[in-house]
Amino acid sequence: MNEDTLIRKLRRRAPLIGDDCAVVPSPANEDLLFTTDFTIEGVHFTREAAAAEVGYKAVARSLSDIAAMGGRPRYCLVSFALAPWTDQRWIDGFYRGVHKLLRKTKTALAGGDTSHASQFVTDVMVCGSVATGKALLRSGARPGDLLYVSGPLGGWRHKRVIVPRLDVGRKLIGKATACMDISDGISLDLHRLAAASGVAAAIDSLPLLDGATLEQALHDGEDYELLYTAPARVRVPGIRIGSIVKGKPGRVSFRGKTVPQLGYDHFQHRS
Ligand SMILES: [Mg+2]
Repeated sequence: MNEDTLIRKLRRRAPLIGDDCAVVPSPANEDLLFTTDFTIEGVHFTREAAAAEVGYKAVARSLSDIAAMGGRPRYCLVSFALAPWTDQRWIDGFYRGVHKLLRKTKTALAGGDTSHASQFVTDVMVCGSVATGKALLRSGARPGDLLYVSGPLGGWRHKRVIVPRLDVGRKLIGKATACMDISDGISLDLHRLAAASGVAAAIDSLPLLDGATLEQALHDGEDYELLYTAPARVRVPGIRIGSIVKGKPGRVSFRGKTVPQLGYDHFQHRS
């Protein structure tokens, strides 16, 4: 197969593909959301992983960011660099995983790019939308707000399938004061949310995935649950884990003890 055959094949399911750019109407009264995420062999998955799982996960990671903003996914660009070991069957499997989640979330494949490299690399860019001015940001948490997660945590060792929490994100519009998704471990991500809001965060308890330890729930990445805050009088879905307090901006504590930021930082894993 060559690039033109691939495009012809993709066009059957994705009519937006075929010109130099995809042309789409801009939605009225909505802000656009853009996010992009790499999924790289050896960093985010190994060769032993099923191709469809890699495709699914690559899309799920970007959709989780749209969920974190309270948005609805609209369009998606999938680029990849083929590796010497990725054959036709593997690419077909990869796209099966991609299409499965795009179909489920009504997201249109609008294009992408192909190249080759020594390892398989894919980049999934998603464009979503949200009512004008209503996007959920990280910066609105205030002392006295309660702190929630959308599901149990445990990190990549225990998380079987990523479910982008698009439904939860949408329900938080107009209710949550701050929101983000947990991709790098709650110790690091909650620190980011608290720092963006200029507040401190106090965790009382964490819901754990089956078999996960508290340490894994705090520091291992790839939970892709939402982390959000809301005033105590506002009812929101999810599990309450603590509250926002006055204190050193960005400080995270668990039952009174400061939690170090041991979550996943790519700049610390370069060698
Ligand atoms: Mg994110």
